Amino acid sequence: GVAITQLRKSYGSNEVLKGIDLDVKPGEVVCLIGPSGSGKSTLLRCVNLLEKPNAGKIMVGGFEATDPEVNLDKMRESVGMVFQQFNLFPHLTVMQNCTVAQIKVAKRGKAEAEKIAQENLDRVGLGDFGSRYPDQLSGGQQQRVAIARALSMKPTLMLFDEPTSALDPETVGDVLAIMKKLAADGMTMLVVTHEMAFAKEVADRVVFMDGGVVVEEGVAAEVIGNPQQPRTQDFLRRVL
Ligand code: ATP
Ligand code: MG
Repeated sequence: GVAITQLRKSYGSNEVLKGIDLDVKPGEVVCLIGPSGSGKSTLLRCVNLLEKPNAGKIMVGGFEATDPEVNLDKMRESVGMVFQQFNLFPHLTVMQNCTVAQIKVAKRGKAEAEKIAQENLDRVGLGDFGSRYPDQLSGGQQQRVAIARALSMKPTLMLFDEPTSALDPETVGDVLAIMKKLAADGMTMLVVTHEMAFAKEVADRVVFMDGGVVVEEGVAAEVIGNPQQPRTQDFLRRVL
């Protein structure tokens, strides 16, 4: 899981995270929603230290991310991240995309890495696509490869940052279905999304952020269906 306490992050004089408290318990799915610029991506990037927090504490999968002595490689092995842009390596095949970090970072042998990659490609419905290159796949298929690649590291936590917002509408459903299955399999997930139907159906909890603070959080159906804070109500009126 993840436990974030009083997380602060500034860019110069612009404080974009103003003391965030957020927990994701093992096996829980939490959706993070909020307007553009509210700090959602920054928060996610702080969790695996792609951004360095200015203050606060982050515990992730048994590691203290904010401890200067933390083993960053080990910590990042346990945290999978999927971005809006798929960021596949264009010169590598689908299979190689799913094995390179396993071999280089997790130090697995090639045969073992390929076996694990194949299992995860099967899991996302792309078991026959291992020898293709990313540009031979649709956006939705590329995103599913990105998910398989992240899963191949055997993470204890998956972070998703608007994984469907760069996709053609007809492929969005495939990616959401994979994420739903992952959630049902018990994966711990923190998901930034504008897909309110997905959040309502799949999330255990929804957290609404605005202006670098958590404004409201609770059971998904409650926050989305019956928001209490005016800012949440306002946001949902615009996106629903
Ligand atoms: P969106 O829904 O548009 O993705 P977001 O909630 O993910 O928005 P962030 O990307 O976290 O928002 O950005 C929060 C604020 O931090 C914005 O004002 C943004 O301009 C600023 N910001 C983000 N990254 C940087 C950076 N590397 N340098 C300076 N400012 C940044
Ligand atoms: Mg963002």
